[in-house]
Amino acid sequence: GTGIGSWPRRRARKTPGRIAIVHGDDTQTYRELDATVTRFARALRARGIGRGDRVAYLGPNHPSFLHALFATCAVGAVFVPLNTRLAAPELAYMLSDSGARLLLHDPHCAETAAEAGPGIAVATDHLVDGDGDDRADEAMADDDPCMIMYTSGTTGRPKGAVLSHANITWNSLNVLVDTDLASDEITLVTAPLFHTAALNMTCLPTLLKGGRVVIEPGFDAERMLDLIEGQGVTCLFGVPTMFAAVAESPRWATADLSSVRILMCGGSPVPRALIDVYLRRGLSFIQGYGMTEASPGTLLLDREMSAVKAGSAGVPHFFTDVRLVRSDLTGEAAPGEPGEILVHGPHVMRGYYGLPDATAEALLEGGWFRSGDVGVRDEDGYVFIVDRVKDMIISGGENVYPAEVENALYDHPDVVECAVIGMPDARWGEVGKAVVVLRAGAATDPQDLLDHLAGRLAKYKVPKAVEFRTALPRTASGKIRKSALR
Ligand code: AMP
Ligand code: MG
Repeated sequence: GTGIGSWPRRRARKTPGRIAIVHGDDTQTYRELDATVTRFARALRARGIGRGDRVAYLGPNHPSFLHALFATCAVGAVFVPLNTRLAAPELAYMLSDSGARLLLHDPHCAETAAEAGPGIAVATDHLVDGDGDDRADEAMADDDPCMIMYTSGTTGRPKGAVLSHANITWNSLNVLVDTDLASDEITLVTAPLFHTAALNMTCLPTLLKGGRVVIEPGFDAERMLDLIEGQGVTCLFGVPTMFAAVAESPRWATADLSSVRILMCGGSPVPRALIDVYLRRGLSFIQGYGMTEASPGTLLLDREMSAVKAGSAGVPHFFTDVRLVRSDLTGEAAPGEPGEILVHGPHVMRGYYGLPDATAEALLEGGWFRSGDVGVRDEDGYVFIVDRVKDMIISGGENVYPAEVENALYDHPDVVECAVIGMPDARWGEVGKAVVVLRAGAATDPQDLLDHLAGRLAKYKVPKAVEFRTALPRTASGKIRKSALR
């Protein structure tokens, strides 16, 4: 098969001596990458991992993430990347929901891994080679699942989007057709690889093309500028919060950014002011809109249009179709009229793992995916994201689903009613606020509630403020009116 597991081998055949991965002072050529992945795959097989098994991965950005991904796919198993910011109970849910047989983890995440996946946690540096066939990827069909990526939802439980080898491949092809990403690219990866955007919008397309990825464990504004200069970085992906922090660094005005040609920003709206700050340094963003379920690239605003169509998320990728529909989900919205964004293309997932009902709700007749976002198209076909149908907050590039936070609040014995809403925030884009009605006579204070949430949820999901009320506004049908609270 042509699946992801075969990429290192195919690349090693064409460009064995080129550098594939840079990590600190270490480099790895495509030949070495292929050899490492082969050894890794053998070690997985020695542990009994094979076709269809789910292998989870927990760790910050590291070459091991890519080795684990390629090796898992090479043995025909399904890769389940996990967000290192999640709390152990959240991770445990994903491990059991996906039926993971193995939790590979970075040595630094040993404690969380042991807590979330007792009995299946193995540090990547403890994997040892076994015997067996090196090349099982031949048997894979392109429609076989390659990854399960968890994305939370309006019902409060995370759902695993099942992405096939074809899904990931077509997304990479979309990127290669729609950007100038080239074989001499030096792509800096500082955004987390466990999120679809950093992995699929720049890292995998670069490796497919034979370019070089510089893997950084995390984001730091100063370090990012150092790396751009020191490594001659040509391509990077980030969320607006990251790029805003870089522009605030004392070195911003003097750093040499002349090597950068692809500056991709997405995941949440890119503020006009940020676009202008970068334009003044001679840099135009390529802006992207997408979602985990679409692997994720959906709309792209090319660099030439970034100022002309500021505020727009662009036009559909080459192999993507997008419709804006009225609330009946069939009538097309006219230019200038808001409509829900539906996505179609060979990169759209086949469904949510083990959730036929949620899948049927999300994927309409003919495979159109309901994004839950509202867009408007202008006369030139450029789409502007104007609203969300789904209840979601985007905070520093991480999505927070209020339903999940509200469920955790309802676990507290004194909480009678609650609603989590988004508030605008200069640094994070949005932050959450909890509006809570307590049981009469309860002595709980805001800090108690925040402490209660801290053990259950990732830090970025915990609201920044708590407000107590005696009642919450409700609609005639009894739903909390969040618009009124905002
Ligand atoms: P995720 O599934 O976590 O990748 O999040 C996808 C969601 O993030 C989308 O459905 C949008 O609500 C939001 N999003 C992604 N990119 C953008 C963008 N460029 N502008 C506005 N919202 C975005
Ligand atoms: Mg999502």
